[in-house]
Amino acid sequence: MGVTVCSARGKVKKDVDIYVGDYVEFCDGVIESVAPRKNQLVRPYVANIDVLFITVAVRPKPDWVLVEKLLLNCHAQKITPIIVLNKCDLITEEERLAMLKPYQGEINSFCVSAKTGEGVEELKDYIKGKTVCFSGQSAVGKSSLINSLGGMRLETGELSRKIQRGKNTTRHVEIYDLADGRAVDTCGFSVMETIDVKPWELTYYYDEFVKVQNQCKFDNCTHTTEPSCEVKRLVQEGVINENRYNRYVSLYKELCERRKNEYA
Ligand code: GDP
Ligand code: ZN
Repeated sequence: MGVTVCSARGKVKKDVDIYVGDYVEFCDGVIESVAPRKNQLVRPYVANIDVLFITVAVRPKPDWVLVEKLLLNCHAQKITPIIVLNKCDLITEEERLAMLKPYQGEINSFCVSAKTGEGVEELKDYIKGKTVCFSGQSAVGKSSLINSLGGMRLETGELSRKIQRGKNTTRHVEIYDLADGRAVDTCGFSVMETIDVKPWELTYYYDEFVKVQNQCKFDNCTHTTEPSCEVKRLVQEGVINENRYNRYVSLYKELCERRKNEYA
């Protein structure tokens, strides 16, 4: 496999934004067409992902709301999520289990250390023949993991640039061939606000809520403050995972907050 620098034909540019991971047809350095995508993520823009590694670590302190958003994206885009707990060398077995418990039996997860190499071989098995993407807050060790997988140095340096509104944005996304597959490093998803969900639609992303919500007193129950809520009852009974419910509530509040700001 080689690298060919291309530019997009004017018509292609006008019709579609080209994402990292897109399959294209090109001739003499000109992109003629972009193949249909099986999935896509925005901010940063990546397409055709098989597995999304959601990377977390003890340090920096995990942003579980971000994790939840990434999980919802996977759900919506039919991408397999895997939670990768990196920097395991810094914590005990019990601490590892405690961190991953909210996802137990729900999301595949495992422990690695880019530093000691623990779990790295297992990670390779998930990458083989696939296109995977590493996401997670900055400094959780995404670049280190990709390095330890392929022994290659990633390009570092000024990866973010200021956009007009004065916000910093990271647009730099690259694909690496490694471990018989391909990996996309997103260089920090911490600003990712990808799900375009209205707060009251959030419940539809939680299959176990959808199944029972016709038993809530209110048709449009958000399972937060309403009385006689079946979801909350099942959480209390331990039928619905409490951690997952708590994750839902914090994301719900955040979506409400965001909407308030948008329409202020
Ligand atoms: P990224 O921003 O997610 O790509 O994170 P980096 O790969 O740049 O790593 C951030 C910091 O965490 C660096 O100082 C790494 O040396 C450190 N780090 C990465 N992986 C590990 C690990 O497994 N164990 C420990 N102790 N530190 C790590
Ligand atoms: Zn309810």
